Parts: sequence; structure tokens; C-alpha cells
Amino acid sequence: MKFSLKKQLPSIPQSPLGNAIITFIRNNHDKHWFRWTKRISLTLVASILLFLILNSIFPLHTKVEYAQLITAKDGSVLYAFLSHDDKWRMKTELNEITPELRKAIIHKEDRLFYYHPGVNVMAIGRAVVNNIFTGRKTSGASTITMQVARLLEPKQRTYGNKIIEIFRALQLEWYYSKDEILQLYLNLVPYGGNVEGVKSAALLYFGQLPNRLSVAQITTLAIVPNRPTSLSLNRNPVLLKQERDKWLKRFQEDEIFSDTLIDDAINEPLQLRRTPLPNIAPHLSYRLHTKYPEQAILKTTLNRITQDKVQQLAYNYHKRIRKYNIHNLAVIVADNKTREIIAYIGSPDFTDNDHAGQVDNARAIRSPGSTLKPLVYALGIEAGKITPKTMLLDVPSQFGGYSPENFDQKFNGAVTVENALVNSLNIPAVKVLEDITVPVFVNKLKAARFEQISRDERKLGLSVILGGCGTTLEELVGLYSSFANEGLFTPISSFQSSDGEKKTTVRLISRQAAYMINEILMQAVRPDLPTGYQNSYHAPPIAWKTGTSYGRKDAWSIGYNRKYTVGVWVGNANAEGVPELTGADIATPLLFQLFNTIDYNAAGSRLLAPKNMPLRLVCTETGLLPGDYCTHQVVDYYIPLISNTQTCKHMKEVPVSADESFSYCTACLPESGYKKKLYENLPPALVSFYNTWSVAYRRIPPHNPSCTRVFQSGAPQIVTPADGREYMVDATEPPEMLLTCHVDNDVKQVYWYINDKFYKAAKATDRVFFKPDLGEVKISCSDDKGRNTNISIVVKKM
Ligand SMILES: [Zn+2]
Ligand SMILES: [Zn+2]
Repeated sequence: MKFSLKKQLPSIPQSPLGNAIITFIRNNHDKHWFRWTKRISLTLVASILLFLILNSIFPLHTKVEYAQLITAKDGSVLYAFLSHDDKWRMKTELNEITPELRKAIIHKEDRLFYYHPGVNVMAIGRAVVNNIFTGRKTSGASTITMQVARLLEPKQRTYGNKIIEIFRALQLEWYYSKDEILQLYLNLVPYGGNVEGVKSAALLYFGQLPNRLSVAQITTLAIVPNRPTSLSLNRNPVLLKQERDKWLKRFQEDEIFSDTLIDDAINEPLQLRRTPLPNIAPHLSYRLHTKYPEQAILKTTLNRITQDKVQQLAYNYHKRIRKYNIHNLAVIVADNKTREIIAYIGSPDFTDNDHAGQVDNARAIRSPGSTLKPLVYALGIEAGKITPKTMLLDVPSQFGGYSPENFDQKFNGAVTVENALVNSLNIPAVKVLEDITVPVFVNKLKAARFEQISRDERKLGLSVILGGCGTTLEELVGLYSSFANEGLFTPISSFQSSDGEKKTTVRLISRQAAYMINEILMQAVRPDLPTGYQNSYHAPPIAWKTGTSYGRKDAWSIGYNRKYTVGVWVGNANAEGVPELTGADIATPLLFQLFNTIDYNAAGSRLLAPKNMPLRLVCTETGLLPGDYCTHQVVDYYIPLISNTQTCKHMKEVPVSADESFSYCTACLPESGYKKKLYENLPPALVSFYNTWSVAYRRIPPHNPSCTRVFQSGAPQIVTPADGREYMVDATEPPEMLLTCHVDNDVKQVYWYINDKFYKAAKATDRVFFKPDLGEVKISCSDDKGRNTNISIVVKKM
């Protein structure tokens, strides 16, 4: 339905009329003709010049302050903000102007709209004559363009102002297309009170977008603007219906709409109710409103249906946990394919002023607890240091003056990477982080757009893996979404950027490492499974990880399958800790409910293994390639040419006396009367742990007492502190450092020396503490057999 005057007229030289004109000009060479054409041309040129001069002196201002609309991906309205001048003046987009709406408005207001240059000269002439002869002022001469001019610059109705209006109308036609002028008209027409524009009226009175209106509704909206007081949308429905039907019949007579359309429209009851505007995703709406205050329509990526479901679940869930004095929660659901946020809950009840309901917890910076652990193990796998079955030590350890504990303050001895991750053990995670180094880890988080971590980069240490840093729910969801996307990170977004900003994708971790982590996090039997989900409830087939921050202030649970990544944070906006608040018990039940609601059957949602995921057999005791004495083996993933290829030496063969009362070395091994026996070759730290906690293991018998060789191989091994390490301490309050050693079985007593000065005698299994001085510190440990070991550490001021 797009007309333009130019298209309607045949081009002159090719048409019969054009030929006639040319022939006429050729045949009429008399002076009169030239004089007239000259005058007309001069007048035309002068008018155009005058217009251009006036145009530059009095430029057109068409900036309209719109009420801002926040929309879902399907275009439906989520939230609306009043314009700066407190008007509901919403912007109708071109694609919302249906042919029916256009026809009704043009037929009623300005039938020649597409044919005049902004002013209808004939109509003005008629109006002037009428005014002169009847003395009454009629406004029928106003075109849509002139009405737009008046709506943009409201003025009193005087002849002078009419001339200004005509000039403005010409300007509008000069700068804008007919469709744009019509759009402006539809956006500015008054509907009484602070309601302006067709879209505002459609939403506020019919609860519909303009492109969803019926012919009856369109007609109602077409007739109100000229008489906004007498035909108000909320005053006289009987009169309004009469008027509507009158116009419908006129449309029928003029064949604007088909008879069936008109019949339906006349039969349609007039249902007008001032409906409240939607109040969906208020936190995201305010966030975008603050960021882009000038945009009339902000298109989010939210899925209206998912958002509604998630909002409902979040609201109900928050009511259930109120009894624990927990009042806030946040949820983000991201589509893993598009990396768009399809549901966003900043807090369960925006109107709950008592508990800071307006705070957007989805982007609040909080301690992530253990939720960064999957990344550290993935990087350990990628660096070839570990595989899922690698045995790690969960024993008391010191890392540069830092001695973390587990959530339950227990230690588990030797555990596989899988168990360490699923049980969220702290010491193995810190150990892996120490191996891959903090800068490597932090750089990955920077690549995954963790903003606070980027800012704090220099301050972060090993504690970052246990939540000693600041992250947002949105950042964590973005990170986990890359595990669902074979290790590729693309920022997740909630806003459809109009400038077509391209998202950059980076490889965060390898496909193999990502899949190994997915497999671990998909395990169904684990300690952080919420009560009841072991049997009675439907646990969704997802990978997930929980987290609980220090002081039980934040409970996290983040899960994903192939389609969605869902992040849940539960806590109090005022950061008040609550004993019941843990990721497993408080956040995970909601996570499961969410998955069961948005993806119950999870058809096609299972995370898939990349092609060529190779497997190998490893020793169950260490996770290393089986050695000669490794009897139990297990299948494990690995990355060829990258994963550790060390052979397991978890058993060693030791010559012992026939009664197994003592052991021999090569120096004292008799020619006969001995036997060879296998003993566990445990790492010193684990032996110390077993001794301290009285864990039974088969010990090598004491060494042959008649052996004459004094050998250093049996000397005490200092387990902590670690030789050559630098320790950063707080100089005002230096921490006590732990001295532990591993000795041969026949050793009863050890003697500790600090900088060659005797410090303490202790049992080999005792935990001894000392306060180090700054600078280089020499630490020695001698056993009762006279064997000695020295190490040195450097202690520095933090
Ligand atoms: Zn082995
Ligand atoms: Zn010996």
C-alpha cells in the first residue's frame, strides 16, 4: 500500500501526453508563452529558495519523548516507563501499523494523504471561503501532516499559526516519508489524560499491541482523537459505540473494508477497560532502562512463556524458604545455542520493600563459593596434570601460609578428581590451582568476562577457588554455558542490540576437558543431591555444581544440559548469613524444579561426548598408567599427547626377614632366608595423614637392626613447609606454621631445628607449630637414628 506521487505519473517523454506537450512547445514560439513560463519558473524557484532559507532559519524539531517499553523477544510488552514529561506516549513501530489501521486512519483523517505535499490547497481554499462567509472556523482543512506539525508544536488556532503549521507540514514532507509521517501521527494523537498515541491506547484500553487490534477496535481508536473529551475512552461507552458503528457503516459504504469484516466489527461488543501495564522482569527492565534511557523500545531476549513460568516458581519457592529467614533469590536461564538469556529474576518479589525486593541479585557481586571449581579441574586436565581418575590428596596441607579446610572440616585422604569435584573438596582444588597457577586461572576468568575478578586480578590468590573473589550470577551462567558448548565461551546477553554488535567466541577449554567435567557433574549419586531426589522426585538429567559462600551468605546451584544453562542464587540481599543456607539444600531444589518445568522430558538435551573421546586403563590407586604391581584397573578418559603418562608405582617390593619382623637394604640383604614382599608406596603427606588419624595401612617392617650402613634414604622427609617455597605473611600478626614430617617406621622421636637452633622434640606423628621470622629460614629434622634433613624457606611480608 505504498504510494508515491512520482510512481503514479507517467514519465513525460515516453507518454502521449508528454509528446503532445513537447509538440505544443515546439509549435508555440510566441513571446507570451515564454513570458508566462518564465514567470511561473521564477515564482517556483523563488518559493523553493524562500522555503530553503526559512528551513535553515527555523529548523524542524521532531524529537519526541517516548515512554520507554521493554519487550520480550516476541515483541510483547514486559514493562513500561513513563516518558520524561510523564506521558504514556509509546512508539508504534512501522511493522505494527497494519493495513487496516492505516486505511481507517487515512480514510477518516486525510483521504489524499498519499497525494498531497503536506497541504491540501483545495481544502484550505474551501475552509477560507467557508470561514469568510459563515464566520465559523472549521478544521477540516488539516492534513495528517499538518496535524503532526500541530502535535509537535501545540499552538493557539490563529491564521498566523496556521501559516506556521503549513510551513512545518512542508518541512515534514521534505524530510520524512509518508509512512514516517503517519507513524509520527499515530504516536502523537491524544487519547485524553496522559495517554498519547495509538499504541498506548491499544495497550492501556484493549491490552493489545496495535497489530493485534480488530477492525472494531481500530475504528474506536480512530474516532477518539478528534474529540478526546466528549468521546473519552473511559467515560461514555454508549456514545462511543454509536459513533464507532456510524463510522463502521461509513467505511462499509466507501468500501474500505469488506462486508464480513464490518458485520463482525458491528457485532463486536465495545469492551474498554483501563488495564494495568505488564509488570514482568522488572529487575532486567530497570537495568536496561538505566543503561539505555533514550531508546523508545528496548528489545530483550526474554522468552515470555519461560519468564512467566520461572517467575511463578521463584515466587512460590521464596515463600517456602521464608521460614528460614531467607528472603531473596535470583535466577537466570540462558539458551545455550543462542547464548541469550530467556528468563531473568533479580528477586522473587519486586514489591517486597521489607527485604530489598528491588535489588537485582542477578548482577550483584558476591562470593561464588565453590562454583569455580569445575574450571580449575578442566584446566588441570587440559594441562595434562590430571584426568578424572587421578588420585589427589585431601589431607591437611599448607599452601604458602594458607591452610584451607573442607566444608565439613574433615579430610578424606586419597580421592579421585571426580570425587574431589563432586564432593567439592577444598584441598585438592587448591592443589590443582597451585599446579596450574593463579594467573593462568584468572586469565581464563578474564576471557570469560568476569569483571570484578579482572579488576581484582592483582589481589587474588589461591583462595579464589574457594570463593575468595567476587562474581555475579550472570557471569557464572556464562561460564557454565561454555561447558555445555564444548568449551567455547560466548558472552550471554539479555538485550537485542540494535547496532548488530557481533558476539565474539573464544575457546575457554578444550572439548575433551569440557566433556570430562560434564560427565563428572552429571553423576547422579552425590552428596549435594537435595533430600528426596535420591528416589521420590524426578531429578533432571543435567550436569550441575553447587556452591556455598563463607558465612553461609550465598547458596548457588548452576546446572546445564545441551539446551539450557540455569543459574540459581539464594540468600539475603543484605548479605545476612543463615545456617540453613547451602547450595545443596537451598539452591539445588529450585534448580531441579526449574529444569523439570522448562525442559521436563529433556528430549535431545543430553550432553554429548565429542567424537574420538579416547579411553585408557589406569591403576585405581593412583589414576596413573598401571605398573608391574597394579592389580586393579579402571577405565579413564585422557587426552592423547597431553595427559600424564607416568607409570604407577603405588606398590614397591621390599626384601624382609622370613618372619617379616624387619626389612633389608642391598647392603645388609642376606644370601638366603629372606622373602620379597609388596608394600604400599605412599606419598609422605598421606603417610603422615594416616599416622595422625590412625588409618591402617601395611607398614614396611623396621630396618634390619644389625645393618651397618648409615643411609640417608631413610632420613625424615619434611612434608610441610615445602622446601624452597616463599611464604607471604602478615608481618604484624605472623601466622603459626605447621611442621610435619614423614619418617621410617622404626623412628619413634624426631628433633626439630630452626636456623640450626634446637626447637622441639616430638613424636614423628605430632603436629608441631612455630612462628617464623622474616627472611630465609632453615628448618631441620633429625630422627632418633641420627638421620637428618634440611630445607629452607623464605618468609616475606605481605
Ligand atoms: Zn598402581
Ligand atoms: Zn640395611
